[in-house]
Order: sequence, then C-alpha cells, then structure tokens
Amino acid sequence: MYLVFLGAPGAGKGTQATRVCEKYNIPHVSTGDILRANIKAGTALGREAKGYIDKGLLVPDEVVIGLVEDRLAQSDCQKGFLLDGFPRTIEQAKALGKFAKISCAINIAVDESLVVERIAGRRMCKCGESYHVSWYDKDTCAKCGEKLYQRDDDREETVKSRLEVYESQTAPLIEYYKELGVLKDVDGSQDMNKVFDDIVRILDDNH
Ligand code: ADP
Ligand code: ADP
Ligand code: ZN
Repeated sequence: MYLVFLGAPGAGKGTQATRVCEKYNIPHVSTGDILRANIKAGTALGREAKGYIDKGLLVPDEVVIGLVEDRLAQSDCQKGFLLDGFPRTIEQAKALGKFAKISCAINIAVDESLVVERIAGRRMCKCGESYHVSWYDKDTCAKCGEKLYQRDDDREETVKSRLEVYESQTAPLIEYYKELGVLKDVDGSQDMNKVFDDIVRILDDNH
C-alpha cells in the first residue's frame, strides 16, 4: 500500500491516517508532524519552516520534497506507507512520482464551513493524536498522557490563509490523481467511524 491522503486542513487526514496505519501496519508519514517535531527540537529545518507555517503558507517544495524522499528511502517504508499532508503542490506530486508509485490517493472531502469548525476546536498531542473540544474535555492525551495544546497555526487569522493556499495549490491534486486513475473520494463530513469504514472498504477492494 503506497497511499496518499488528500483533503483540506482539518478534513480529518491525521485522525484517519493514525487508524489506517495501525490497521495495516504501515508507517504514517506526516510532513506536518515532521516539521513540528523539527520546530520543537530547534533544528535548522525547523527554524526555516516555522516562518512559513506561522503565516499559513507552504514550506518551499525543495525542502519538503527532500525530507519525504529521505523518509521514504528508510527500510520501514519499503512495503508501504501512508503520506499525510504530502504532496500539497503539483510540483511535489511530480517529484513523488519519480521515487514512488502511488497505489491509491484518498480524498477526504469536507465543506469549508465544517473544516473551520474542526480546526477551531482541534487540540493536538505531540505524539500526533488530535482531539476536538466538542467530544474530548480532558487536557491530556488518552494515548500517551502528554498535555494537549492548540497549534499556533490553528488561530483564525492563519486558517484563512491556509484554506486559500489549499484551494489554489493543493485542490488541483484531486484532478492530478484522478487522471492517474488512483483517486478515491470519501465523504469526510460523516462520523469518524463511518469515514474509517469507507476508507477500509476502498483499501481492501484495491490491494
Ligand atoms: P493540516 O493537517 O491542518 O492541513 P499539516 O499538519 O499537514 O496541517 O501542516 C501544517 C503546516 O505545515 C502547513 O500549513 C504548511 O505550512 C506545512 N506543511 C506541511 N506539509 C507540507 C507540504 N507537503 N508542503 C509544504 N508545506 C507543508
Ligand atoms: P487534518 O489532519 O486533516 O488537518 P485532523 O485529523 O487533525 O485533520 O482533524 C481536525 C479536527 O477535526 C480534530 O479536532 C479532529 O478530532 C476532528 N475530526 C476529525 N475527523 C472528524 C469527524 N469525522 N467528525 C468530527 N470531528 C472530526
Ligand atoms: Zn499523545
């Protein structure tokens, strides 16, 4: 399984990716998680990325492409992987096509009004798990016990720019993967378990 998850910020990519990777035992490669870990660790990559992330802009293609190429070359990715948050531009998708053959691109489709609500109430753990204030009222992670936090870029001002960037730069990937014959749409506005069932059905049919 060489999978890509597409979808607007807040569509539910991370939530579903965690569960799919557990079920199929493949690594979850989230460029957002990798970049945030670098920011936390204070690396040069983190310092460069932070300026873009805080403004709701994309980190330059050459930076994230190099990062993903290195990650996918590691041994645990040889039998499969799930890319969450990459590619985000046509340039990234073309580069990815040179070092991996994507077997399925799942587009988690959600209306803009709903993603705004999901982002506003999102609470994150540094282990990658995300929660929503509407159904989780504790301030520590149910998986690892760490304290939850709100992402800086989940503030309202930044969200607007992220959604614009999504529409102009990332949404065209839907057509790109459709032309490659590997696109599958999932209705992301449904209950989490229902979204998961739909994804599992698609993956079981295709692999
Ligand atoms: P979300 O899941 O809400 O869409 P991510 O965690 O995937 O957010 O990404 C957070 C931020 O990290 C993005 O707004 C962007 O600045 C940066 N980023 C993540 N992945 C990429 C990528 N593939 N290309 C460029 N920037 C990226
Ligand atoms: P993404 O990785 O696409 O940015 P997340 O998986 O982090 O999105 O989900 C964004 C927010 O919406 C989180 O607070 C998450 O708990 C919540 N969420 C995800 N999927 C659903 C769903 N199907 N129904 C309701 N809330 C959801
Ligand atoms: Zn955690």
